[in-house]
Amino acid sequence: MTDAPRRTVYLDHGASSWPKPPGVVEAVASAIAEYGANPGRGAYAMGLAASRLIFEARRDAAMLLGVRDSADLAFLSGCTEGCNLMLKGVLRPGDRVVVSSVEHNAITRPLHVLEQRGVRVDVVEADERGVVDAGRMEEAVDAAPTRAVVCQHASNVTGAIQPVADLADIAHSAGALMLVDGAQAAGHLPVDLGSLGADAWSASGHKGLLGPQGVGLLYLRPGLDVEELSQGGTGGSNSEEPGQPTARPERYEAGTPNTPGIAGLGAAVRYVSSHADELRSEERRLARRLHEGLLAIDGVRVLGPEPGEPRVPIVSAVTLGVAPDRVAFELDRRYGVAVRAGLHCSPATHRTLGTLETGALRFGVGFGDTDADIDLVLGALAEILA
Ligand code: PLP
Repeated sequence: MTDAPRRTVYLDHGASSWPKPPGVVEAVASAIAEYGANPGRGAYAMGLAASRLIFEARRDAAMLLGVRDSADLAFLSGCTEGCNLMLKGVLRPGDRVVVSSVEHNAITRPLHVLEQRGVRVDVVEADERGVVDAGRMEEAVDAAPTRAVVCQHASNVTGAIQPVADLADIAHSAGALMLVDGAQAAGHLPVDLGSLGADAWSASGHKGLLGPQGVGLLYLRPGLDVEELSQGGTGGSNSEEPGQPTARPERYEAGTPNTPGIAGLGAAVRYVSSHADELRSEERRLARRLHEGLLAIDGVRVLGPEPGEPRVPIVSAVTLGVAPDRVAFELDRRYGVAVRAGLHCSPATHRTLGTLETGALRFGVGFGDTDADIDLVLGALAEILA
């Protein structure tokens, strides 16, 4: 007799949400089974159906994110590609950029390349909770001519929500652009890109938006001229022209799009749009239950904002005396709990928090998690650390 498969208690939503809400898997499958033609090329029924599906996904994502003209949203492979595009598409040698000290490497690595090409990168330290201080940012921006301010919307390590609208005001008062990594905000927070002040805002489809992996969104504010990363592969419009189309979103969507991924994202976005309040209040409640439970365990220090302060549903902890990767291993092996240990692609954040040596244990709460899951994890942790 074989053992019944053990249910995974999935607390790694900060990396990728799982499982997906109703309709997402079906939308991916039907895009492959029924619409498997290239959108925007063939004028036959299957190609037109694929184009329509992409049009509807873009329209519905624009609605959720407060984007008036859906052409200002490009479908890319994920947030990382969007971050590369918004940074490399505007920053030139001699430009200065001011960036927070708590960025993901989707920001720090492209900036590292740009620095080697002659862009000056100045870093503003976040506080001990990982929150960026608008006053410090203003001082740094005003210290020298600045082309762009770059900041995450929310942290994938501490869950801290950054004052993006204030930072955008500071950037714009200095004639700079505001470029935002929205990976951890999308889906989890109400986002109105029409009023936020971000000139560019990049997000993953597979985290809080509850879509499949391999698709993301980049918003570019109307009129902002950003150079594209790739050219070609798209023959649908202006085929006779030697250069990349300049119209949006075609300019930024070279090659055959990820139609199944976009179909899944469309279904996911519609689900998030119609359940936003309940999804957000439930994940906030569970994250707080986890946070307070962690604080009650001896030998656990929680990073980031205090319980009750604004955060997205990510809670990271340092476990004194036992390395986080050991704890994550035991949680998986003995209890079937999936969490992430280490630096979470953001050594910059851990340097800021003083946890670069140890890393941390990260719990990302999300769709499908329950009170029983949180209690199981807390009990398991107490046992492992006892
Ligand atoms: N930025 C942040 C803050 C993230 O947490 C992540 C993913 O972990 C990324 C960027 C990269 O996103 P993607 O996997 O969609 O490229």
